Amino acid sequence: MHDPQPRFDRPSGTGLLLRPEMELCQSALPLDWYQPEFQPYAEEFLRLPDRRPATVLAWMEPYVRPALDHFGDELLLLAHFYMGGEIVKVVEHFGGVIADSYALAVAAHKRPEKKVIVESAVHFMAESIAILAHGDQSVWITNPKAGCTMEMLAKDWMVLPVADQLQERYGDELLVVSYMNTSGRLKALSGRTGGASCTSSNAHLVVDWARRQNKRILFVPDQHLGRNTAAKLGMDLGKLVTLPDPSRGAIDLAPQWAELDRAEMILWGSACGVHTIFTPEMVRWWQERGYRVLIHPESPIEAVRAADGEGSTNYLWDAVQTAPRGSKLAIGTEGHFVNNARELGRQRGVEVVHLAQIPEPGFGSGGCGCATMSRNDPPHLVGMLDLLRKGTAPSINRVLAGDMVDERTMRRDRLHEEERKRLVAEARLSLERMIAIVEGQ
Ligand code: SF4
Repeated sequence: MHDPQPRFDRPSGTGLLLRPEMELCQSALPLDWYQPEFQPYAEEFLRLPDRRPATVLAWMEPYVRPALDHFGDELLLLAHFYMGGEIVKVVEHFGGVIADSYALAVAAHKRPEKKVIVESAVHFMAESIAILAHGDQSVWITNPKAGCTMEMLAKDWMVLPVADQLQERYGDELLVVSYMNTSGRLKALSGRTGGASCTSSNAHLVVDWARRQNKRILFVPDQHLGRNTAAKLGMDLGKLVTLPDPSRGAIDLAPQWAELDRAEMILWGSACGVHTIFTPEMVRWWQERGYRVLIHPESPIEAVRAADGEGSTNYLWDAVQTAPRGSKLAIGTEGHFVNNARELGRQRGVEVVHLAQIPEPGFGSGGCGCATMSRNDPPHLVGMLDLLRKGTAPSINRVLAGDMVDERTMRRDRLHEEERKRLVAEARLSLERMIAIVEGQ
């Protein structure tokens, strides 16, 4: 039997507390942004008198608890740290796991007893889970429109023609390193070229591994992470070539062969809009006021160089969890994460501010969160679980390895069974090489 009353102030894995009186800072999406199957849940949510957990959870409980009871130990709820509003705490409240993209990818694989995996995050994360999933595990995303804008500028139909040109010129010398923020189709490209995937915490290990093989590296999709990684390894930045902006159409490498021939690493030209806003001026502004500045390596190299520390989402969270009482931290990463970190810091006597939120003219508003990730909200989670329990979940929400999703139209291009098997084998190779590189340290 389920507990009909929401319970609060229980310790959680992230260290965050959900209190009845706090506001869930979840902005409401327009009703027509929901799939038809999810609209009845959204209508109820939009009619709630407020967004306090006491209200929202009381509405969620009669849907979520029966689903938890129905699936029992076979259900696994997952969410990423960057999720908007307090959905992270809501997912944790219902027994879910909160993590970064790498930890999410292995979470299901390491729990073979979990057969139904419901993910509140963006598509490439759900697909990474599907690539590593066991055959009897199904992966569902609460909102198929939740995509990563960095990955949306590195779709397979953009990258593969460029990789073909590079392979034609450099043959086996070319090795592709694919950041986690790529589709399975690009992770498979990595696997095929002898390359590996990477995360922001291990990109330096993977690139170093590739360099020791004397390979010419194509790093996809984040140019900033690629450049920061090269700097961290002491590479000659003059031997990096950044490809043209992929949003401007097909890329012809012919005009660039001379500089590409001299390149040690070629950077795909995508970036995360959330992280590119950070500047060295912002870093110095906080440092001059006694703050230690920590930044994510998806940010421009000038800001990373000026900061006191750089690292992945887990590094940033750990820094808040372990900072001595009285510390002051300015963090340069996604806004919702910093909101959660600020609250964690408050519980520990540590002041946390967002690097871009500078109360002075000339710095812009800054501090935006990942809007696409925030498309996973309580009605999407409620609807997904209720529809799964009833056996009527839309197939568009099912995530299979190799799916190519257009996040604007929600069109899902699915591979045939044989193609998918091949893709899974190649993409797994890429992920497994990363794991072997990291564990070999
Ligand atoms: S914060 Fe940036 S990199 Fe992360 S999911 Fe959002 S758009 Fe992608």
